Amino acid sequence: MAAATKIIEQPQAKKRVYSFAEGNKDMRDLLGGKGANLAEMTNLGMPVPPGFSITTEVCREYLKRGRKLPPTLMDEVRAALAQVEKGLGKKFGSPRNPLLVSVRSGAKFSMPGMMDTILNLGLNDQTLKVLERLTGNRRFALDAYRRLIMMFGSVVMGVDRKKHFEAAFEALKERLGVTEDTKVGAKDLEELVGTFKEIVKRETGREFPQDPHEQLEMSIKAVFESWNNRRAIEYRRDNKIPQDLGTAVNVQAMVFGNIGEDSGTGVAFTRDSATGEHVLYGDYLANAQGEDVVAGIRATMPIQELGRHMPKVYGELKKYANKLEKHYRDLQDIEFTVEAGRLFVLQTRSGKRAGQAAVKIAVDMAQEGLISKEEAIERVSAEQLEQSMHPQIDPAYKVRPLAIGVPASPGAACGKAIFDADRAAEQGAAGEQIILVREETNPDDVHGLAQAQGVLTARGGKTSHAAIVATGMGKPAVVGCDALVVDEGARQFTCNGVVVKEDDLITIDGSSGRVHVGRVPTVPPSMGKEFWQLLRWADKMRRLGVRANADTPEDAATAFRYGAEGVGLCRTEHMFMDEDRLPVVQEMIMAVSVQERKKALDKLLPMQREDFIGIFKAMKGRPVTIRLLDPPLHEFLPREEQLIEDVTRLRLTEPDSAELKRFESLLVRVNALKEANPMLGLRGCRLGIIFPDINEMQVRAIFEAACRLKKQGVEVRTEVMIPLVGHINELKTVRDQLEKLAKKVMKENGVEVEYSFGTMVELPRAALTADEIAESAQFFSFGTNDLTQTVFGFSRDDAEAKFIYQYLEKGILPVNPFQTIDETGVGKLMRMAVELGKKTRPDIKLGICGEHGGDPASIHFCHKIGLHYVSCSPYRVPVARLAAAHAALEDKSGAKARADV
Ligand code: ADP
Ligand code: MG
Ligand code: MG
Repeated sequence: MAAATKIIEQPQAKKRVYSFAEGNKDMRDLLGGKGANLAEMTNLGMPVPPGFSITTEVCREYLKRGRKLPPTLMDEVRAALAQVEKGLGKKFGSPRNPLLVSVRSGAKFSMPGMMDTILNLGLNDQTLKVLERLTGNRRFALDAYRRLIMMFGSVVMGVDRKKHFEAAFEALKERLGVTEDTKVGAKDLEELVGTFKEIVKRETGREFPQDPHEQLEMSIKAVFESWNNRRAIEYRRDNKIPQDLGTAVNVQAMVFGNIGEDSGTGVAFTRDSATGEHVLYGDYLANAQGEDVVAGIRATMPIQELGRHMPKVYGELKKYANKLEKHYRDLQDIEFTVEAGRLFVLQTRSGKRAGQAAVKIAVDMAQEGLISKEEAIERVSAEQLEQSMHPQIDPAYKVRPLAIGVPASPGAACGKAIFDADRAAEQGAAGEQIILVREETNPDDVHGLAQAQGVLTARGGKTSHAAIVATGMGKPAVVGCDALVVDEGARQFTCNGVVVKEDDLITIDGSSGRVHVGRVPTVPPSMGKEFWQLLRWADKMRRLGVRANADTPEDAATAFRYGAEGVGLCRTEHMFMDEDRLPVVQEMIMAVSVQERKKALDKLLPMQREDFIGIFKAMKGRPVTIRLLDPPLHEFLPREEQLIEDVTRLRLTEPDSAELKRFESLLVRVNALKEANPMLGLRGCRLGIIFPDINEMQVRAIFEAACRLKKQGVEVRTEVMIPLVGHINELKTVRDQLEKLAKKVMKENGVEVEYSFGTMVELPRAALTADEIAESAQFFSFGTNDLTQTVFGFSRDDAEAKFIYQYLEKGILPVNPFQTIDETGVGKLMRMAVELGKKTRPDIKLGICGEHGGDPASIHFCHKIGLHYVSCSPYRVPVARLAAAHAALEDKSGAKARADV
């Protein structure tokens, strides 16, 4: 055993360095995304400056060895460098014809927060002079050198870039009275280089290294180190990227966009990444290098203008862009540089895109024949589809945001910055548009958040309190915006030198993480023809049905428009809350005798009947599941505190008034209905057992509505759902009584309508005894909200306001179980209920009506356990249709034909 292990552990001579010609696009694991694509483009014959990649394996080795490079690495690097030198006829560090290189990090997944690229490596006091002489352009050479010292000084040697280098440059420009970098001449740049060198010396205690090989080795190490930057680690955690992948290092010969006006650098997208329009899209900056385009130092020109400026280069760029898009079969984000009229391609990767663009690009590409319809469906994530349904910042608005944070809950919102929750709650309630701005939020801020248009925080990631609560409320959130310095005491924040005071307007975009000062133009959600096309394709691929939770005819109509195939949950009590109904409902609750209650119920009956007629009509013959009264009755009465106040006041002011009598009796009733734990008290089917006449009124209303429509020739299918059943006898009792009544109503009307009786599975005991319960239930609908509450023993409101986010941050829970079904616990019960239910009744209909029915991950689970449909809020129906298609495509067992839902 030991001997065998030894043989395997013999150090293999593994290849650590790959020239671009040796790699390809499928080697992302080893070469990182950037390296793999540089290799691919090289092999496609594109003008890529030569270079090589050091593998991610070396990074892992480096970190494991206690931050030491493998002893032979630099020899391998020198060998690879020699090849580049040979090809170009230049030599790294040569005093005659020096080769300059860039050092670029590149992990498997593109990741902000990693090391910045260093350009112009190989320059020193001596090669500077040679470069000057060879190009005859002193200004250019000095510009390249000052960039190297600044990048190397900050990235490798740790000098604060803003505080020292940029401040010194700004001071110089100010003294010269110029604003643009390009207006600083050679003489002044020379002075700046001197200043920069002094800064390095002063801040680090050592000279800027003059030996190019030393520069290179230090840079390689710095790239590896940057894998463990705090921001990089957090980004990986938030995006579920493994922490142990490591990064590759790319070393590449420099090309120069800063040689003059016929040089420049730019970024091009093969399609518009904001709208999806099929046009070359991007920015170009003449006489510039590297990141100048995105740094916003000078105004860039739109890429089309390059066509006028340098038609030949533009033509070539278009040709390569097309070729790359066809080759990768996806939107490409391409970096390029023009050196004295010659085009070089420096990077390509799959382009990030806004939700709306994702939809359009996927549909267009499928229609162009570039990808299949299945791929089009797979290309659009549920989040992107959702994004396209929210307002967003106008894509045409190109002003640079003040800051970019973590996009935590989609949608754009604008309002006055408010720095404390009490004031937010107050102003919001008064109808003001506000954005709650906090260092980070905690449970004491929830009331403020509830009244805000959106929330902005300086700290925390996607699992922070602000992120969780805002998502739960469906409000835009930008969190972890660490450029923000929030001073809650002074009621203001500063960010990149800008001060935003309380009541100043700001705009946030929770889809992109952007934060702007002032009111920024937003566009309403766009659901164009591609949106509907994508969904029609999804419908052909999915097996799960999609219904909606709709309580009113208006909801039902919306649901129908969004493609719901039925109503999975109609909560009748929502109709009771209506202004003109509530007094009647209260009358019913206050009734002391059966006769009195009947009088009130008789008034409610026609109202309910009208509601049901409206909903049935809106659904045009598709199934409608109606849940009988569920909440505890006290929810329909005034709050006890309010009543005590009123009674006390009236006793003092109008002791003989009728009003006082009314309030006193209400208070008596409220006290009588008071429960220690209403969530687990007299509610659900228990109500119907104690007060059978309420259920009877509802069932009469349902069947009278159905019969009436049937007689008018309108198709109706109704499913009567009995809530909160835990024991078969509860269901039996209620169903027997109600079905008898249903039959009676149909007989009275002389028509038969299609109906069934079933139950919600929302208590552990119902799931555990699902075989028994299925004897009396023709369908199960999982009420996963209550099921999660009762399985965990959490009250949702308390849990979400008080401790769930801490559970998530500490990793105690992997996801919020009220957002995504807890598969191991709650899910286990669901599986069990499905199996047991089918055993008793093989054709039992299975659905879910908890909010989870609109959550993509939960939809996948529902597909897996074989439910027939999911039901969600009307606005989430499109997302559910797409997610159901994703689940079916993932299901290698082959998507089965969709059951009738
Ligand atoms: P990031 O991953 O942050 O985009 P990159 O490694 O792509 O970093 O480089 C940053 C900038 O420097 C880009 O604009 C890139 O095109 C430019 N750049 C990198 N290497 C070279 C090179 N060899 N010659 C010219 N420009 C380069
Ligand atoms: Mg790049
Ligand atoms: Mg429930």
